[in-house]
Amino acid sequence: MGSRGVLFVFSGPSGVGKGTLKARLLSEFAGQIVDSVSATTRAPREGEQDGREYFFITRQEFMRRVENNEFLEHAEYSGNCYGTPQKNVERLLGEGIDVVLEIDVQGARQVRSRMPGCVSIFVLPPSFEELEHRLRERHTETEEKVLARLDAAKREIPCAGEYDYQIVNSDLDAAYAQLRGLYLKATGRA
Ligand code: 5GP
Repeated sequence: MGSRGVLFVFSGPSGVGKGTLKARLLSEFAGQIVDSVSATTRAPREGEQDGREYFFITRQEFMRRVENNEFLEHAEYSGNCYGTPQKNVERLLGEGIDVVLEIDVQGARQVRSRMPGCVSIFVLPPSFEELEHRLRERHTETEEKVLARLDAAKREIPCAGEYDYQIVNSDLDAAYAQLRGLYLKATGRA
């Protein structure tokens, strides 16, 4: 195997469409880039499967893994804990496979300091009102949770400048074209 894979850090407020953008990248470049499955203490949403979207674990188990240094980064977001299992990420990068971490702002800071070669991208909504509309359209959360996520977005959006790149997702195809370009450039495939 040749060179190491590139680590991508992908953040943005809940509902901004970063999951859709990431899924498109993973599908177009299947075999070259994979996403890391995080562990979380949040309850699964309808249709989510353990080991696919997340490893759903108890808070007690999460804390055990924190103490064992099993996470590359971890953070609390909207009352739940999320963490990136370190071993798997290291293995994939070592095999020359690119890895994308879809993580929050606090986690991204930890990754940037531990893995300075990573490429960080923040996805922004065209406006706060549009983000609110998208979050409500999703119908996956209770009103209380929607409000908590909007509150989190207000704190996250001002951090966009900490990232290497910012993508405004007004039009999905245009946003994807930008992401694709960044990916090809960062991996030397352009
Ligand atoms: P959700 O509950 O909507 O799936 O995710 C909530 C937030 O947690 C999102 O901003 C998502 O990017 C972030 N997140 C998911 N997995 C991780 C992780 O492993 N570490 C960190 N720091 N954030 C994560």
